[in-house]
Amino acid sequence: MRIATNAIAKKEAPMLKVAATVQELKMAMAAWRVHDETIAFVPTMGALHEGHMELVKRAQNLATRTVVSIFVNPLQFAPSEDLSRYPRPIENDKQLLEAVGCDLLFAPPPEEMYPEGFAARVDPGPMATVLEGAFRPGHFTGVATVVARLLMMVSADYACFGEKDYQQLRIIERVVKDLAIPTAIVPVPIVREADGLALSSRNAYLSPPERVQAVSLSRTLFMAAEKIRDGASVRETLDAGKKQLADAGFRVDYLELADGKNLSSLSLAQDNARLLVAARIGGTRLIDNLALYEETGEENA
Ligand code: AMP
Repeated sequence: MRIATNAIAKKEAPMLKVAATVQELKMAMAAWRVHDETIAFVPTMGALHEGHMELVKRAQNLATRTVVSIFVNPLQFAPSEDLSRYPRPIENDKQLLEAVGCDLLFAPPPEEMYPEGFAARVDPGPMATVLEGAFRPGHFTGVATVVARLLMMVSADYACFGEKDYQQLRIIERVVKDLAIPTAIVPVPIVREADGLALSSRNAYLSPPERVQAVSLSRTLFMAAEKIRDGASVRETLDAGKKQLADAGFRVDYLELADGKNLSSLSLAQDNARLLVAARIGGTRLIDNLALYEETGEENA
């Protein structure tokens, strides 16, 4: 009798399964599907922080099983970018996922995601050419290709994406709709540090003085949003914001007001408008964004 109780207790203790191959992934998922379980998926590049964990929490509230992937996708990095130095603290990531009761980590090696002969690309269309796309040509093709492939492999009911990468979120929604991928995309709001800096794996690159300067990024967004809401000219506010960032030591790639649905540039405020920024400090490139007006939720429908 005692043995049986222990066996049950052991079975129910949180246990993170780790799959490195598509076959292992599919076997774990098939076993759940037999029992009518629902699955929510969180794709990441690892170096997990509270922002990622918020996505995991959301996933756990959506479905009975949660799958997280960690894959630093070479296709979305240009040769000049930080692919080789991108942080990969895999053991720490596993512990974080295990601690919150995530069910499965899919952590494939590059050759599993891109086997010999892999040649297909998902072109996400015009939304991929503005803002980030203008400064990182090919980036969103790399993102859309890996995310489409992951979504097909995992075939989850839901997949959670952070608004931190707002343009990516909108592009993924477009791709999922256009390719009829049967997974509901669930947006999750940005998690910020106490001083406003959006959490990012790349914040680890910042030296202590750069970390202090970095607060200007979110501060500029919050100040610009307030000014525009108060009726200031969009153009003048964005120019002043860029100057403020330059004074704080940033090299600004863009600071724009855009339509929150299709990301086209705006010169006048409107309901779903969003401020988006990318700027570099030292060798680190950071992005952030902010809705001009509080969102009703319909925005993301
Ligand atoms: P990454 O590992 O940077 O590719 O991010 C994986 C997912 O986590 C993406 O959907 C991101 O938008 C999301 N994410 C990253 N940082 C944050 C954050 N500070 N708040 C909310 N979501 C985030």
